[in-house]
Amino acid sequence: MSNNIAIAIDGPAGAGKSTIAKLIAKKKGYIYVDTGAMYRAMALYLIEQGIGADDQQRISEAVPGVDVTITYENGEQVVWLNGRNVNGLIRTEEVGKMASASSGNKEVRRKLVELQQALARKESVVMDGRDIGTCVLPDADVKVYLTADSHVRAVRRYEELQAKGQDCDLETIEKDIIDRDYQDMHRDISPLRQAEDAVLLDSSHMTIEEVAQAIIGMCDGAQEE
Ligand code: C5P
Repeated sequence: MSNNIAIAIDGPAGAGKSTIAKLIAKKKGYIYVDTGAMYRAMALYLIEQGIGADDQQRISEAVPGVDVTITYENGEQVVWLNGRNVNGLIRTEEVGKMASASSGNKEVRRKLVELQQALARKESVVMDGRDIGTCVLPDADVKVYLTADSHVRAVRRYEELQAKGQDCDLETIEKDIIDRDYQDMHRDISPLRQAEDAVLLDSSHMTIEEVAQAIIGMCDGAQEE
């Protein structure tokens, strides 16, 4: 039996999962596993190979040639794609859209889920994604489904991009968010949904600190049981 603790945080794009998960990981001394970054690394590879988002056969054929690993540097997750650090290349809208399209592929999911489960066997983790509570870590100690109103999520994303000096349009961002959620919730394999035993948190009117405290409270409660 392992004494590792697992906290699973799922939810739609832009709900604040990574910010919250990072904060909780730091406070609890656990490893933060950003599973979206793994799907993004896979997507980057497919884009670089010129494979189309709808070409399921070529996507499946490409999977054995992709090696995605993660390491930690100063507490930050570093994603390696075939030995190359791709942290600086995976945060674009193009890669996000391709990640959402290719994450419906069975081979892609099988490979990345195995990697995620192996990480949780080794360490206590805060893992965020779309299928962590339902599929990757069904026995997680704490499961949270974190959501927020789509307009609130779009405004957060807009402000983030503006702060980085990137030109962007709020309406387009909101439309992209709604489209991506639809795609993630309606795919055949491991669609985004709230696990039956997950706690629903709506962060629309909560601060980051309030959300983090609510989850840490659940975690402390689970450890006392
Ligand atoms: O969270 P992030 O925006 O980085 O995720 C990119 C895409 O990867 C999501 O839109 C989703 O399609 C996919 N993903 C997934 N399962 C996960 C994490 C991400 O299908 N556990």
